Amino acid sequence: MNKDDFLLAVEGLTVSFDGFKAVDDLSFYLEPQEIRVIIGPNGAGKTTVLDLICGKTRATAGSIRFRGKELTKMKEHQIVHAGVGRKFQNPSVFEDLTVFENLEVSYPMGHTVMGSLAFKRDAAVIEAVESVARTIFLHDLLAEPAGLLSHGQKQWLEIGMLLIQKPALLMLDEPVAGMSVAERKKTAELLRVITRDHTVLVIEHDMQFVGDIADRVTVMHQGKVLSEGSIDHVKNDPRVIEVYLGH
Ligand code: ADP
Repeated sequence: MNKDDFLLAVEGLTVSFDGFKAVDDLSFYLEPQEIRVIIGPNGAGKTTVLDLICGKTRATAGSIRFRGKELTKMKEHQIVHAGVGRKFQNPSVFEDLTVFENLEVSYPMGHTVMGSLAFKRDAAVIEAVESVARTIFLHDLLAEPAGLLSHGQKQWLEIGMLLIQKPALLMLDEPVAGMSVAERKKTAELLRVITRDHTVLVIEHDMQFVGDIADRVTVMHQGKVLSEGSIDHVKNDPRVIEVYLGH
């Protein structure tokens, strides 16, 4: 595969904090429409990799090519416009707004109900909100204030707030943390559906969930790739068992 055929090509990525290499000469490649899960012990550098991709942290060395564009020199908002969406671990939705309004304010054209222009909602926005709401299992709750949703529903809503911006790459940090078993199952379903239009990069600890969703798994340790491949491949890799799964 030509390098620019990958949705994301991370090569030689390195970042040092006061001489400590949190990410150390890391390379990995994402194909369009795959679900990749990054696993590894605490402190392995997983969150820092997502911070580097979305421009929150600047690389000391290396390159991040996304749809043929170099991200390492771009500002955070330019990276968002290039098509990278990032969800942090804790859900952050507008509690006082309804599900509909949370999705509406996230629509990329800046349509908003925060002012007095609610009556101007155009058909394209309504259609996008309703379509995303169905995907995230919240279509029956469009009029519900987000503050009344369960923790899991808030997580889905936040994923929806990203989906409505149509990012080519969606990055999720422990999306099922705090969810019930039933909600985890539905989240796996949700991620499968959205790979029709999006590539998904997930940090996750729950190995059952990793097995349910991952096309490929990248195992990180001390800022480097320790192992990579199918869930079965990495689960049976003695190095992975030694530093991560054996504990
Ligand atoms: P993980 O997500 O795999 O648990 P992190 O990416 O959060 O790991 O952290 C990797 C290492 O980098 C840790 O040792 C952490 O303390 C360090 N680190 C992360 N961000 C910073 C920072 N801004 N300044 C200094 N050290 C950092």
